Amino acid sequence: MAIKCIGILTSGGDAPGMNAAIRAVTRSAIYNGIQVKAIYRGYKGLITGEIVPFKTQNVSNIIQQGGTILKTARCKEFQTQEGRQIAYNTMQEEGIDALVVIGGDGSLTGARIFAEEFNIPIVGLPGTIDNDLFGTDTTIGYDTALNTIMDAVDKIRDTASSHDRLFFIEVMGRECGFLALNGAIASGAEAAIIPEMQTEEDQLAELIQNGFRKSKNSSIVLVAESELTGGAIGLAERVKKEFPQYDVRVSILGHLQRGGSPSANDRILASRMGAAAIDALLEGQRNVMIGIQNDQIVYVPFTRAIKNEKPINRELLNTLRILSI
Ligand code: ADP
Repeated sequence: MAIKCIGILTSGGDAPGMNAAIRAVTRSAIYNGIQVKAIYRGYKGLITGEIVPFKTQNVSNIIQQGGTILKTARCKEFQTQEGRQIAYNTMQEEGIDALVVIGGDGSLTGARIFAEEFNIPIVGLPGTIDNDLFGTDTTIGYDTALNTIMDAVDKIRDTASSHDRLFFIEVMGRECGFLALNGAIASGAEAAIIPEMQTEEDQLAELIQNGFRKSKNSSIVLVAESELTGGAIGLAERVKKEFPQYDVRVSILGHLQRGGSPSANDRILASRMGAAAIDALLEGQRNVMIGIQNDQIVYVPFTRAIKNEKPINRELLNTLRILSI
């Protein structure tokens, strides 16, 4: 059956570049003669019927805006079969033949279940600052968040070096170390403490063994938010106890990492992926996430994107170690 009308939604944690993706999906669909209906507040909008037809003008002047104009939400009801049945009924009433879902791991899990249950074509776009989806080199929002972290750490470094302090800076990542590791390299930090390494070694002990300071009089350690690492506060407490001579401080960057105007890389990535989502639907693809590998668009089945853990590049860890001597 030819697709005449698509629904588009953003779900889960917001990420800079989602608007650029909404714009690309909308314009690319209209260019191909497909109608677009915008669904507000993620899956919730499919249940409450908060749906608006979109024309090209609806996505004017949004490529540079952070957040998502469609709003996002976490929707418990969609996790039940009854909830998804209501969502499906809404799609039928609205004449929506296919969905483009922009979101993270949870949103794409929901998309996979929904697609299988009702045999609906769904294409996903990886929208998350955490970069934790398998099958794509990078996700929409990751580059912007990385740049935000770099700017913040640059500023903290000024005060850290003025006072000879040891700073533990906690960054987001949801049990995933990409932001911490690459943020550390980009900002010239001394170390990154990431959950991927936690089971193998005590990273803090190693750091202490190597001597925090050596020739330096201030140090910055990026810590991925994670139960495994104990977060920046837990690590700082440990160091304070064992090394009372250090002037230890903690900074938790928090939600500022999610905001801001998307970087050029994220805008381009979102634009390419948004257009690719429509190409995929026209090709008869379904239940795939659009990914990018070696600068080429690829289709990654939902099951692969969600279930597999994306590995950290160990070369990067080594580079960080070498460059922080
Ligand atoms: P993210 O997409 O950023 O990972 P969440 O994990 O909060 O964010 O997921 C967003 C939404 O996706 C949830 O609120 C829910 O509506 C839907 N979702 C997540 N997991 C499932 C699931 N197992 N079944 C159905 N829907 C799900």
